[in-house]
Amino acid sequence: MTDSAEFDLIRRRHHYRCSICRQPEKVTGTLLPVKGKTSEGDAFTTFPVCPDHHAKYMQGFFTGIEMKKIGITAEEYRNFLSEIQEVREAGDGLSAAEKGSLAKEETIKKIQKAQKMKMPKVHSDYKKEI
Ligand SMILES: [Zn+2]
Repeated sequence: MTDSAEFDLIRRRHHYRCSICRQPEKVTGTLLPVKGKTSEGDAFTTFPVCPDHHAKYMQGFFTGIEMKKIGITAEEYRNFLSEIQEVREAGDGLSAAEKGSLAKEETIKKIQKAQKMKMPKVHSDYKKEI
């Protein structure tokens, strides 16, 4: 989402506190980035939140007050959540087993293709010999 040096600056700007509960990082554990807005009409920016609030955000459980604290509307929040969902589906959505079977299918297709390419050649060579 954000490059870590940039996120370090953001955390410093927020005095190493969660944007939602204002608890210091020392108490909550490492702050994590979420998407929000400093003020309405602004471009989206990154806010640091504690692990608890990060999990709550990711699970779609932010309340109106919490959305307000990072400057987003319910609609924007829904959009972020569907973006996160899409990324998940595209990436980690596939389990190792699924990836493995996809790789296997690819290999089978490659072998089949190779065989198809090979067979007519063998066949025509055979004919020539006759
Ligand atoms: Zn928090």
